[in-house]
Amino acid sequence: MQPIHAKNYIDGQWQEAGQVFESLNPANRRETVGTAPLSQAADADQAVASAKHAFESWRELSWVKRAEYIDAFAQLIRRDIEEIAALVTRECGKPLNEGRADAVEALHMAQYVAGLGRMPNGYTVSSEISAKDAFILRKPKGVIACITPWNFPSAIPTWVILPSILAGNTVVFKPAEQTPIVAHKLMELFHEAGLPAGVVNLVHGTGEDVGDPLVKHKDVAGILFTGSRAVGKYIQQVAAGDAYKFVATEMGGKNGTIVLEDADLDIAVNACVLGAFKTSGQRCVSTSRIIVDRKLEPEFTRRYVENVKRIKVGNGMQDDIFMGPLIEEGGIEKWKLHNAKAREEGAEVLVDGQVLTEGEHACGNFVSPFVYRFDGYKRNTFCLREEAFSPHVAIIPVSGMEEAVDVYNDTDYGLSMAVITEDYRKWRWVRDHADYGLGYVNLPSIGAEVHLPFGGVKASGNGHPGAEGILESVTHRVAFTVNHA
Ligand code: NAP
Repeated sequence: MQPIHAKNYIDGQWQEAGQVFESLNPANRRETVGTAPLSQAADADQAVASAKHAFESWRELSWVKRAEYIDAFAQLIRRDIEEIAALVTRECGKPLNEGRADAVEALHMAQYVAGLGRMPNGYTVSSEISAKDAFILRKPKGVIACITPWNFPSAIPTWVILPSILAGNTVVFKPAEQTPIVAHKLMELFHEAGLPAGVVNLVHGTGEDVGDPLVKHKDVAGILFTGSRAVGKYIQQVAAGDAYKFVATEMGGKNGTIVLEDADLDIAVNACVLGAFKTSGQRCVSTSRIIVDRKLEPEFTRRYVENVKRIKVGNGMQDDIFMGPLIEEGGIEKWKLHNAKAREEGAEVLVDGQVLTEGEHACGNFVSPFVYRFDGYKRNTFCLREEAFSPHVAIIPVSGMEEAVDVYNDTDYGLSMAVITEDYRKWRWVRDHADYGLGYVNLPSIGAEVHLPFGGVKASGNGHPGAEGILESVTHRVAFTVNHA
């Protein structure tokens, strides 16, 4: 296929920025999916100015009118869903069924947010003083910077951009460098939906050249960030200098699946394969620790290893592929580091992951799963505490539910937790004692539904509880009191 030449989208116009960078297919680095402008701070400034200008008229429209634009956008996503799915797969390497799920999630979010435009968004309340009426209203904050990662390149931008604009804010969108072409496609659809100029602006480029100036910009009222802990922490620190600026961070995880003594082993094995290796372990919610009761751990481990060895790794455009490549060659180094640390820290390696370089794998960033086991939990180990964001998973035998949750909680993170049990008293206890933002019973630790909160606790972020939560973040709730005396 011919490479696609993405552009910046500022004030309703497509713009170049001098130099360009390439987006390569991680399953075949000889294929250039497209090019995009290597923008600089001046481009970010221009986008903020455009968003600031558009805010004055966009905020005047009713919620319902704004929702109509989002509804038009939803219909275009539906029309182009297969094209978006294929772009997601070519640009970030996920198998096509996952690329489709990414695009469908974007569609669901657009439909859901359009529906929220018909909900009451302010109300009249009684006053404590007679002859007074009071109102509680939501007012938009202004220009919101949406900074997103590469691993859900169509879904995550819609999670953050759409609630922001529904509430009357305007947006500058800075997508991940790895997935500019999917971002460009979303912008084409906003353009075709007739969204007024300046309401959503797109600036491509690096975190340093574009993200950083946005975070520091005096006219940016808030930042919706999804990405790594290191960058999220940095953004929080920088933005704290401007007392008015809010930052919502969605960051990483060191997620766990707890397999209790009474677990159904078919469910447990399946949940742990999907949880650990979908998207090649490159999901914020991927299981990287399997905490199993000792009583069934030998049988669980035997069956798990058997299943993992059958995983097919390759180009996700082929039907039978379960695991695509890592997004970047750099990801292979990080994966190797985590594997080496596991060995150093005394793990028994059960499935020794390999870098795949022959035949169909020759030009991609392919690795196979790495599975290891600790007999007895070790605190303060790098491999059991740090996010690997790759196909790298530990099995940790424990004695009973309380030790399982104690081990699960022993990380700085608190994003996603699954528990496999047939006993409702047990999952209720785990539900109330584990640290997580997303909990699952008899399911993998992955999966999002657009009407549910999606966020973490501890170092996983300050949590956006789904679309409604973002509406809270991007609006001021104001009280307005009228005297009739
Ligand atoms: P990342 O490196 O933190 O990048 C995220 C975004 O931040 C990118 O657009 C990046 O730009 C930008 N950025 C980098 N440095 C910046 C700076 N100094 N100022 C402003 N922006 C900056 O994360 P990633 O590798 O794309 O994604 C993987 C991480 O995201 C993992 O930790 C994963 O767990 C997390 N994640 C969390 C969730 C969630 O909902 N909790 C969902 C998905 C992913 P560049 O592309 O130019 O680097």
